[in-house]
Amino acid sequence: MTFDQDFTLTIDGRPVSGDAAFDVLNPATEAVVAQAPDASRAQLDAAVAAARKAFPAWAATPIAERKAKILALAAAIGQNAEALKRLLTAEQGKPHADALMDVMGGAAWLQGAAALDLPETVNEDTPERRSITRHVPIGVVGAIAPWNFPVLLAMFKLGPALLAGNTVVLKPSPFTPLTTLKIGELARDILPPGVLNVVSGGDDLGPWMTSHPGIDKISFTGSTQTGRKVMESAASSLKRITLELGGNDAAIVLPDVDVETVAEQLFWAAFRNTGQICIATKRMYVHKDVYEPLKAALVAYAATVKVGDGAEQGTQLGPIQNKRQYERVLDLIRDCRDKGYAFLIGGETSPAPGYFVPVTILDNPPEDSRIVQEEQFGPVLPLLKVESVDEAVERANASDYGLGGSVWSADPDKALDIGARLQTGTVWINETQYLTPMASFAGHGQSGLGVENGLEGLLEYTVPQTIVVKKRSVPA
Ligand code: NAD
Repeated sequence: MTFDQDFTLTIDGRPVSGDAAFDVLNPATEAVVAQAPDASRAQLDAAVAAARKAFPAWAATPIAERKAKILALAAAIGQNAEALKRLLTAEQGKPHADALMDVMGGAAWLQGAAALDLPETVNEDTPERRSITRHVPIGVVGAIAPWNFPVLLAMFKLGPALLAGNTVVLKPSPFTPLTTLKIGELARDILPPGVLNVVSGGDDLGPWMTSHPGIDKISFTGSTQTGRKVMESAASSLKRITLELGGNDAAIVLPDVDVETVAEQLFWAAFRNTGQICIATKRMYVHKDVYEPLKAALVAYAATVKVGDGAEQGTQLGPIQNKRQYERVLDLIRDCRDKGYAFLIGGETSPAPGYFVPVTILDNPPEDSRIVQEEQFGPVLPLLKVESVDEAVERANASDYGLGGSVWSADPDKALDIGARLQTGTVWINETQYLTPMASFAGHGQSGLGVENGLEGLLEYTVPQTIVVKKRSVPA
């Protein structure tokens, strides 16, 4: 199997060329990496039909066998991790080390899902009657993934969907389809035909999926704006939906922190993956007592970080993944400049090829500025000075988003009390972005609907079924 060419859809366990093709660009060079198949509506119909045909047998397959297949897919991803990593860097832009984490994280998430079990609740067990509630698969799941963690976030969906007994039509982002197409190819030798279908395509493909009568559930990760469209479109056929959407995570830094220790960690909380993480720190509220020293330490560290082509050794941050997002980030920087906000570092761009934005930190822009209120999803961080912890909590919570948040302090108990006041799906103390396949991950407010990961995430791929058995008639 080659990893740099021959990209095909996976439909009913077979390779299928697209009815058309589109270019996938390397964001570091803007050169074409490869062409990806552009699935037509008829090809989506074929993928959905294959998934529907495969569903009864897969749902009836003992869960232990389904787990074994999921683990085999994890192993195949692991065995091909080096090649997948290079391909992912070429299409996504992230440094090789981060691409490897994305790929291996995907394998680990499949393994994590395979360690879960579907519970059964005994509601009643009397001489007259036995009533149990079990969780049965929904049918065909349409999984729609974004471009920031193409492998990991697709596997967030694939593992639990398959474990629960559903079949899947998986659609990667048109900006990063290649690695996912190759994972589909690996799966052809492992999963029964039709259990996993992988389709790539243009902007029409997602809406075709969300309105497709043959798809029973949509699991979507992407922006809040698109999430609203998904919900609207799914309403016509009352599809089940899980939406993992945008965030504007705040970090709250208390005055007791050891500045030198936390500066580097806080830097990466905001800038890892070039800031393109739903749970990146996007606003940093720093107590006035440590604002100046932390500012200096952050800027000093930022100046040492190497931004460049993810395929070059030593690169720590790659480019913005695509032109649309690049222009959005440049627009936010322009807005900061136009309004006269102070830049501590960065802010300048170069006309050279590649969607590169330097590490950019802003010095205490106003709370109502766009860079504070909007999700930047890029390497631009507003550093914000607060007079008190209460002020920080109030400002952190004054957001439509509610994905994650963190509190940083030398006193974890005190930090925990403050963290408990954050209105977000995940709260971290003295770290960020730690997720596991065993713990639920959900967005509050406009950051999502439903849950991924953990038992609760698994149950989102099921519908409850209560079975009541009358044992003998009871005299009136
Ligand atoms: P996006 O919403 O533009 O696209 C996400 C996916 O949806 C892509 O596959 C895209 O092709 C597809 N899509 C686009 N329009 C569609 C439509 N009308 N119907 C159905 N599908 C459609 O998001 P993006 O730019 O790829 O990703 C960045 C966003 O994702 C950020 O807002 C980020 O915070 C969010 N995100 C959230 C999480 C989370 O778990 N909460 C994780 C990663 C990224």
